[in-house]
Amino acid sequence: MNNPLVLVVEDDLPVRNLMTTTLKTHAYRYKTAANAAEALLMASSHNPDVVFLDLGLPDMDGIEVIRQIRSWSNMPIIVISARSDDADKIEALDAGADDYLTKPFSVEELLARLRVTIRRLALMNSDSNADRSVYTNGKLEINYSAGCAFMNGEELKLTPMEYKLLCLLAKNTGKVLTHTYITQNIWGRSWDNDIASLRVFMVTLRKKLESAPGSPRYIQTHIGIGYRMLKVD
Ligand code: CA
Repeated sequence: MNNPLVLVVEDDLPVRNLMTTTLKTHAYRYKTAANAAEALLMASSHNPDVVFLDLGLPDMDGIEVIRQIRSWSNMPIIVISARSDDADKIEALDAGADDYLTKPFSVEELLARLRVTIRRLALMNSDSNADRSVYTNGKLEINYSAGCAFMNGEELKLTPMEYKLLCLLAKNTGKVLTHTYITQNIWGRSWDNDIASLRVFMVTLRKKLESAPGSPRYIQTHIGIGYRMLKVD
């Protein structure tokens, strides 16, 4: 990929300037939009590699912008939320956003989110050319057709539920999955006790997967929101 094109959707000028300066300094190409109407136009005319989308826009709810983009494109969307309320982020993720950034954020956080997303793009692009029946990430390997997973070449003794959970996270590597999304995919529903069960399954899965479950490398926790499989070298 040549220098990725980033669309910055933000009505707050100082924040937008901080973002574009950061992008320029780090050799990213960028376009900007100050409202939802411009954002939709820019997204369709420039087909950016990544979109940073402020949820609080003057003309339309950012969630609606996500829905509209998702009706025709899978381009990665990282939402920016000033609100500390997790409900907004969860709604945005469930509407199809890939990741989120909470205001105020640092330049380092902005760049870190961008890197994770660019790696996810690279992985998606390589997957589309490669054999999809085997997933590899760092020392983790999943053989979907055989229904088993390996770490450092050794088969992991996973329960069917742990395996299902691992596959769901693997198939969405780089993307934050909400508790609701995960439980609906695994149990077909999302009750409070399903989310509690999910936490328990996650603890046991991590014990088998991570060499140091206290500082996980593969599965990242987003407190109050969900989990993400990271791309590991
Ligand atoms: Ca705003």
